[in-house]
Amino acid sequence: MSFEERMQEILASYDAQDLTNQYQKRMAFYPLHDYFHRHILEIGVRYCGIPNVALKSCSIKVRWEHVKSVLSEIGTIPRKWDQAISTLHNLRNKLVHEDVVPPLRALEDIRSNAEEFSEWIIEHAGTYFVQSSGFTFIQRFKKLTRWYVRKGDSILRDYGKTVPDYAIGDLRWKKEFFFMKIKGLRASADIVGKSITNVAEITSSNLDGLISLITEIERLDARESVYLEFKVCPICSSKIISSQHASGGSSPDHVPTEIHYRIGCEKCDFEVMHETEWFA
Ligand SMILES: [Zn+2]
Repeated sequence: MSFEERMQEILASYDAQDLTNQYQKRMAFYPLHDYFHRHILEIGVRYCGIPNVALKSCSIKVRWEHVKSVLSEIGTIPRKWDQAISTLHNLRNKLVHEDVVPPLRALEDIRSNAEEFSEWIIEHAGTYFVQSSGFTFIQRFKKLTRWYVRKGDSILRDYGKTVPDYAIGDLRWKKEFFFMKIKGLRASADIVGKSITNVAEITSSNLDGLISLITEIERLDARESVYLEFKVCPICSSKIISSQHASGGSSPDHVPTEIHYRIGCEKCDFEVMHETEWFA
């Protein structure tokens, strides 16, 4: 069965649900989410050259960010796709954590855009694929550098100034080392982005920096995913737990105005996911 046929089958499974039935309405969300989620994975791997393992375990939002950063190199990404992905991401978190029924309008909105999303992303990715084969060495270097600098930045954001336990271990890391690498790379990415027009202007230290950054980030990533697979915090080795708490609720009937969901370490502030749901 071709990719397109499999996608059609997923949409048909959404269409077969009776949306006047509350339970089926809840179930109807999943094929919609799958439809977008699988498109992004397929495009990311087949046309954008992103490794399958890097995308497979990501949420739809993170998956989309990765693919979007590649596709945006050849043109602007319509904002409506950001909105659709964000709705899918938020609804999924709600459905997984709570016994809610998704709003009919949100489902219908996403459904009505499904085929258009498919056509757009396949066409746009096809164009990217053709154009990127003609990318020069400098363009590839810049692209790779930007990609890993972004990834490094997000690792730094997640861990702050704390070096994770697993990063020290047998690697004997020094945190300054990693921060310096990112800093240096970000600087060279900026310079390369602005002024370099000739391959000869990329120095060997630009290349060395990029290569060691890639090696370190991939290593960190692999170790982190092993920790998380065993629900162990990569920073302090405590348990990863999911929790929720309500706040607000000063009205007479004490209905909470917001609920916070969190998946993260039970001891430190390492978080896998944090979402807040507001009630008007
Ligand atoms: Zn922890």
